[in-house]
Amino acid sequence: MNSLEKIIHQEIGRDGAMSVARFMELALSHPQYGYYVCKDPLGQAGDFVTAPEVSQMFGEVLGAWAAHSWMQMGRPSQFILLECGPGRGTLMADMMRACAGVDGFCDAAQVHLLEVSPALKAKQAEALSAYSPQWHESLESLRKDVPIIIIANEFFDALPFEQYIYIEDRWFERVIVSKEGAFEFSVKPSDRSFSVSEKAKDGDVLEVSDVRVSMMKMLCEHIKRHKGAGLIIDYGHAKTAFGDTFQAIKGHESVPVFSRVGACDLTSHVDFEPLYGVASDVEVLTQPLMEQGDFLKMLGIEARAQYLKQKGADGIEKDLHRLTARGEMGALFKVMDFRYGF
Ligand code: SAH
Repeated sequence: MNSLEKIIHQEIGRDGAMSVARFMELALSHPQYGYYVCKDPLGQAGDFVTAPEVSQMFGEVLGAWAAHSWMQMGRPSQFILLECGPGRGTLMADMMRACAGVDGFCDAAQVHLLEVSPALKAKQAEALSAYSPQWHESLESLRKDVPIIIIANEFFDALPFEQYIYIEDRWFERVIVSKEGAFEFSVKPSDRSFSVSEKAKDGDVLEVSDVRVSMMKMLCEHIKRHKGAGLIIDYGHAKTAFGDTFQAIKGHESVPVFSRVGACDLTSHVDFEPLYGVASDVEVLTQPLMEQGDFLKMLGIEARAQYLKQKGADGIEKDLHRLTARGEMGALFKVMDFRYGF
């Protein structure tokens, strides 16, 4: 048993059965042993490869989106360019490089990063040293007097979520218990009610993330107050659906969720419906959810690929396919655009 597993068993011993959300919070962000706190999980040698790590084209065309949003906003002379969960800083570096030719953009952009991982902060500091980024561990410390442009790629899926299961006409929370030194799922009755209850059948699992919803609410409220635009990119679905998508990833393979806690990434698919619900409550404007492949093509990724190929870059067709094809990242990953004030 590793140190983090011991800590979780102790907490269960003290407080009783643990929610999936608390388990995920400890596994990913425990201040000493959390997965994101201790290591850089990205890249071929790591556990998973994200779109910006597949190809520079991803960040370059998102740069076009950011530059276009900034122009629509009336080219403010200062604005916050915030990335949530920036990984190695690759996406931000590619965006800023791609926008270098957009008159005034890079001078106006103040790069802010929302990040919890010391290991990844060090990588970001290296990748983005030219832009003097400022780090935040929560949104409260953000400047409040200038407009904002927000990017979040594979950030929401890393935020904790709970699971509920419908058994004999009522909801139970799926919880984690400790049994003979191992973790096991159990259930406990829940008082929560959900809008999809009418459609639920025996055994259906519903995933709910209060943390994702409250993160979205803070982002929308910030945009509403100070004007701006945001882009959330993640794997998930447009409408709330039943299903267990809790997964652990190690070395590019799916592994059991209780194996080597703190050494594997834990995620679930993002349900975009409640995020649209928040945007609508806060009254920020949204575009319908798009598939990543369609979104990147709309921003001209094919022309960019053509250009890079002509310049002699290797592997461009393969990378373009990976980012945009329906059987690859193109359809599973979705894009939510929200904005206010221009
Ligand atoms: N966006 C990057 C990395 C995705 S991995 C890319 O596309 O390559 C998830 C990122 O979110 C990591 O940088 C991780 O450290 C960060 N993260 C996870 N939970 C977080 C939290 N609660 N607050 C801030 N950052 C978090």
